[in-house]
Amino acid sequence: MARQQSLICKGCWQQMHVPIPLRGALSVPFRVVGLRPSRMNPNTCTFCELMFKRVMKATKITIDATILFADVRAYTSLSQSLSATAMGDLLDIFYDECAGAIWEYDGLLNKTIGDAVMAVFNFPIRQENHARQALLAARDIQRRCAARKAEFAELTGDAGVEVGVGIGIHCGELSFGEFGRTHRDLTAIGTVVNTASRAQSVAASGEILVTAAVCQRVGDDLRDRIAKPYELKGFDRPLELYLG
Ligand SMILES: [Zn+2]
Repeated sequence: MARQQSLICKGCWQQMHVPIPLRGALSVPFRVVGLRPSRMNPNTCTFCELMFKRVMKATKITIDATILFADVRAYTSLSQSLSATAMGDLLDIFYDECAGAIWEYDGLLNKTIGDAVMAVFNFPIRQENHARQALLAARDIQRRCAARKAEFAELTGDAGVEVGVGIGIHCGELSFGEFGRTHRDLTAIGTVVNTASRAQSVAASGEILVTAAVCQRVGDDLRDRIAKPYELKGFDRPLELYLG
């Protein structure tokens, strides 16, 4: 699928109604002053990343958003049997497919942590139903990774392990901004993030697990799903999760 690329920054247009050109001849003078497509979402700009300080005059904001975590199952056992090059190639495919799917649904590819990616939906591009966008992105990640099964198999060779992806999604209010004094990091923190990460940790290969909050917001598409309780590290009570 061809990645749709916006000519102007969707974030700046939506928040300030300023058309910042991202591509083509018009973007050249903007690039000179450091305004270019963000590496977290090429349809937004580097200015959006810094919007807190320059526009919102704050380093942190509280937003309603959806968090998606995806990771490669069996990564730890694979890392013991595969060469560093093969592991690198495997992660390249995984990251590329995750990025493609997340950007397709206007999410922010916030972080890659080892064999996992974390995405934020509803910032800086606002989305009415960000939970649904995240779910669609998750399904797209599963589809895209399944389509590259043969390449994964070639890389893992005799390891006898099938590469699969597990995904967790949760939504709600979280804190987004710059954290840390010496090493400044633009990211989201809070229970919503931890819960999404925990949901991902129990998702089997090929599975998408979402919380009740996500189910509720997505509506029709997930109406018939039956909750399954999961015992999660750091949670007093089992967490009810639904197949997405
Ligand atoms: Zn922008």
